[in-house]
Amino acid sequence: MFDPQSSQAREFIDHEEILDTLAFAAKNAENASLIQDILAKARDRKGLSHREALVLLDCRLEEYNQELYGLARQIKKDFYGQRVVMFAPLYLSNYCVNGCLYCPYHMKNKHIARKKLTMDEIVKETMALQDIGHKRLALEAGEHPVMNPLEYILEAIQAIYSIKHKNGAIRRVNVNIAATDVASYRRLRDVGIGTYILFQETYHRQSYQKLHPTGPKSDYDWHTTAMDRAMEGGIDDVGLGVLFGLEGHRYELAALLAHGEHLEAVHGVGPHTISVPRLREADDINPDEFEHGLADDIFAKIVAIIRVAVPYTGLIVSTRENAATRARVLDLGVSQISGGSRTSVGGYYEPEVENTTQFEVNDTRSLDEVIHWLMELGHIPSFCTACYREGRTGDRFMALCKSGKIQNCCHPNALMTLKEYLMDYASPETVALGDSLIASQINEVPNLKTRNLVIQHLAAISEGQRDFRL
Ligand code: SF4
Ligand code: SF4
Repeated sequence: MFDPQSSQAREFIDHEEILDTLAFAAKNAENASLIQDILAKARDRKGLSHREALVLLDCRLEEYNQELYGLARQIKKDFYGQRVVMFAPLYLSNYCVNGCLYCPYHMKNKHIARKKLTMDEIVKETMALQDIGHKRLALEAGEHPVMNPLEYILEAIQAIYSIKHKNGAIRRVNVNIAATDVASYRRLRDVGIGTYILFQETYHRQSYQKLHPTGPKSDYDWHTTAMDRAMEGGIDDVGLGVLFGLEGHRYELAALLAHGEHLEAVHGVGPHTISVPRLREADDINPDEFEHGLADDIFAKIVAIIRVAVPYTGLIVSTRENAATRARVLDLGVSQISGGSRTSVGGYYEPEVENTTQFEVNDTRSLDEVIHWLMELGHIPSFCTACYREGRTGDRFMALCKSGKIQNCCHPNALMTLKEYLMDYASPETVALGDSLIASQINEVPNLKTRNLVIQHLAAISEGQRDFRL
């Protein structure tokens, strides 16, 4: 029985409820009055339930689909302005005891090279990431209690935060590691992680079990309730995601949003971010062997729907997507992207010598090229990490978002962190484009006092000072 407040995965991701939702959406795919009502609710920025979202997904009336895209663009503009937050993944280790059929790190893969970064290598990788200009990382590691115990992850995070190299600093470390217990989440909280990210991969229980034949991750309930334990352990910001391509996208979208509803119902705060990775080719993984590949148009529609369904949730795409797709979904609601990424274990300090890559990257441009491209498209790349460092996390972050006041922080912080990037890391062409963008955008800071403060800070950054934030 569907119950968003239940602590049982079976009840907050209720298979029957999802199937009913899919049937309801299919039946109402041309129900103009219902679709209009749903769009009206979305227009009021009230978000949408999983059922309402699915009706929009199935909608076959083109004029309303166009209205959905327009609304997604408008919500993106109203809540996120032109800014796009930048991050990079850092793979610590690809040792893994799980048997995930879609990931080359699965335990039975005997021909992929196995690697675990030493602390010395982590320092080098962090400095290399700082030298490119990154301030925000997503740490990745396979699940392996002996090779990658929690102590190793904690030590790595502490090392990363402690490194101050030239003007560089990693100011927020998000962590994507296997589901664990409350005490371990508490320890991650205590070392100051940003968002705890864990992809569900698929919400479809039967498929999940087929795709995860062995290892601790094969326990659907343990995996699906991980965010509840993370929040119980004091981690305020959690990031959801599915791996599109493993199961039917309609099922996944309905369940993903139902998961968000559950977190809101139980913890009073929904997901901080949602990621939308699509299955990609990798060492012994051929996406053609999976029957649920997601076409670009549906992918874009899913992004637009998530944008209107959960307006306050950051939406992430990685370099799994190529430049054209990234441009398209940035327009429809994506607020965070990675750039200059390496999806191998290491690879920033020295090019990888053995193949340790988790998936093929479809956007291989350098961070400088991505920053330049974003600005050409009219976006403002942001390296801001202010909220987390000012203690604006979880419900405090959401309350500020919902008050609309977050814009007074995001826009100025984007300009100031972009200026730091231009001063320290950018190519001359990027500097020229960025400086003129900042000059034109400074007048968009609505509050005069704040605007003057930002002008002062920008001048101080030009003179060598760093790390201003609002
Ligand atoms: Fe291991 Fe994660 Fe890959 Fe599964 S998806 S094999 S848990 S690294
Ligand atoms: Fe994100 Fe907060 Fe910075 Fe805005 S001010 S970009 S919400 S960290």
